[in-house]
Amino acid sequence: MAYDPNNIFAKIIRGEIPCKKVYEDEIALAFADIAPAAPVHVLVLPKGEYLSFDDFAGAEPEAVGRFFVAVRKVAAQLGLPEGGYRLIMNHGADASQSVPHFHVHILGGRPLGGLLPGDALNR
Ligand code: AMP
Repeated sequence: MAYDPNNIFAKIIRGEIPCKKVYEDEIALAFADIAPAAPVHVLVLPKGEYLSFDDFAGAEPEAVGRFFVAVRKVAAQLGLPEGGYRLIMNHGADASQSVPHFHVHILGGRPLGGLLPGDALNR
């Protein structure tokens, strides 16, 4: 699948669509998820054109590393490391990825339960 430069996150990165910005540097942008699934739900995106984790993780190791350092910085800025947080990266249809620009969900602010809805740890 080719990268679609008109996907909604590409438009947010270009400033064509507003977002509730949380963090930005030369390689990454973070903003609040429009439909939060937890008290804190922030998306962190590399500014480069990558479809998903599977695509991004094949990029220059230096770029991949720098991006995840930025993700850690955002989690710290949100005050999450002490209580804990979860990172989610969806790739493709089975994971229900809905926006084809790689992004990391940072979720926290309450106990998040088990890994997946309905799994044993959620009961
Ligand atoms: P995924 O299913 O992993 O592709 O996640 C896409 C996420 O983007 C969902 O959690 C949506 O709520 C979120 N989202 C979609 N459009 C926007 C937007 N304009 N601003 C902020 N978050 C958005």
